[in-house]
Amino acid sequence: METISHWINGALSTEKSDRTGDVYNPATGQICAKVNFATPQTVDHAVDVATKAFETWRHASLTKRTQVLFAFRELVNQNKEKLAALITKEHGKVLSDAYGEVTRGLEVVEFACGIPHLLKGGFSEEVSTGVDVYSIRQPLGPVAVISPFNFPAMVPMWFFPIAIACGNTVIVKPSEKDPSAIMLVAQLLKEAGLPEGVFNVVHGDKVAVDALLTHPGIKSVSFVGSTPIAKYVYENGTKAGKRVQALGGAKNHMIVLPDADLDLAADAAINAGFGSAGERCMAISAIVAVEPIADKLIEKITERATKIKTGDGTKGADMGPLVTKVHRDKVASYIEAGEKEGAKIVFDGRKVAVDGDGFWLGPTLFDQVKTSMSIYQEEIFGPVLSVIRVKSYDEALKMVNDHQYGNGTAIFTNDGGAARRFQNEVEVGMVGINVPIPVPMAYFSFGGWKNSLFGDSHAHGTEGVHFFTRGKVVTSRWLDPSHGGINLGFPQNT
Ligand code: NAD
Repeated sequence: METISHWINGALSTEKSDRTGDVYNPATGQICAKVNFATPQTVDHAVDVATKAFETWRHASLTKRTQVLFAFRELVNQNKEKLAALITKEHGKVLSDAYGEVTRGLEVVEFACGIPHLLKGGFSEEVSTGVDVYSIRQPLGPVAVISPFNFPAMVPMWFFPIAIACGNTVIVKPSEKDPSAIMLVAQLLKEAGLPEGVFNVVHGDKVAVDALLTHPGIKSVSFVGSTPIAKYVYENGTKAGKRVQALGGAKNHMIVLPDADLDLAADAAINAGFGSAGERCMAISAIVAVEPIADKLIEKITERATKIKTGDGTKGADMGPLVTKVHRDKVASYIEAGEKEGAKIVFDGRKVAVDGDGFWLGPTLFDQVKTSMSIYQEEIFGPVLSVIRVKSYDEALKMVNDHQYGNGTAIFTNDGGAARRFQNEVEVGMVGINVPIPVPMAYFSFGGWKNSLFGDSHAHGTEGVHFFTRGKVVTSRWLDPSHGGINLGFPQNT
């Protein structure tokens, strides 16, 4: 069986590890690889290598950096199918979803290719007579990226292309559940001409994360994962003096106003609720139906849901398995809890039968969900949609604003004025208007509010460039050559 090892200094690490993790193919339920877990010594080694590489990489010209990124973009494009296949194998999402993940990640690479423009500073001439002031932005040093299982290629790509373009060196600690995609990324970066040690990967769990959080050589931490761990990473990383952005969990609401196009809303609910088996931080999990449209909307969603084929993501299914058995069982236990708490099951994913030992769970829809129920309060991170019926826009808005999470949200309406009020009043970081998954383009920044983000920097876009650089302002007074500069034919002081 393959054992996946760390990637340090441009090569696979031969360091021994006494702890490994099992990597599953969720569609077969079988272990497909082992992954080495880093010790604190492995992390020390990776940081040493990244620190040494920083001395040179920080002086690489902007042209050199963009040449590497352009070459990397071409290589990822050429290897898209291979990368998507690795994602599907270990995560379970269907191939088209895996392909889409790579495409969204590439958009950040393309954004980072524009770094010469993005790093341009400001200049004010003559702030005082003969005095100029200008600002420059400089890299931080070795930076850490700690990523979740649900986007094993895209989430690291939210950060490392910009970090590298800004002149930093990087250590990625990917999810131990699907570690292979980032290994192909590492090889492609090397092939693109990235010098050794600029991009490193250490695999593992809490031990590796804690070592990165406390290592004095690590200058910043970009974390994406569940809220309790995001909070832990933010608190401990900042305590150790690091710059930290920690993106957490979500519970995304989709408000459907009575004037909305219900076919569009139903299509959106299906795609955003059950796509990637609901394992997306931007998945819709609560549909807030403003009466009197709930019955009609549920009918349209049900009609569409019956056509969803749950199965192996490599064999033409619409929805793949959940990532692990433990996670599958946890999601199923939420369905039980919802039933017990009095919500009405419209269709039940537990009844969907798929051959084999994969971690299967079909789509589930609940109606009559109340805000006090655990299926409403907590992040389920599976293919479970809840419909909450309300009487007015104000009631719907209050519900979204009262929720602990504020990652994404969407409103469906044909009233521009209502949509405009919503975008202004809602306390959520990313808002869609008749768009269910409003993931910002790479040149904007991605991030939520409240318990969905700890820190004040969102991912990518100009906030990403700011996060991975430190500002410096220079105030300079150059005396006129007549004050003793080289003799250029100017009259000299006497
Ligand atoms: P997770 O929090 O379990 O793991 C994330 C990372 O933290 C992994 O690399 C993991 O190895 C590490 N980790 C796990 N337990 C740890 C511990 N006790 N101490 C230190 N490190 C630990 O999250 P996950 O299950 O991999 O991913 C799903 C979660 O990520 C969901 O909550 C989802 O909403 C969230 N997510 C958020 C966003 C966003 O942009 N806000 C994007 C993607 C995923």
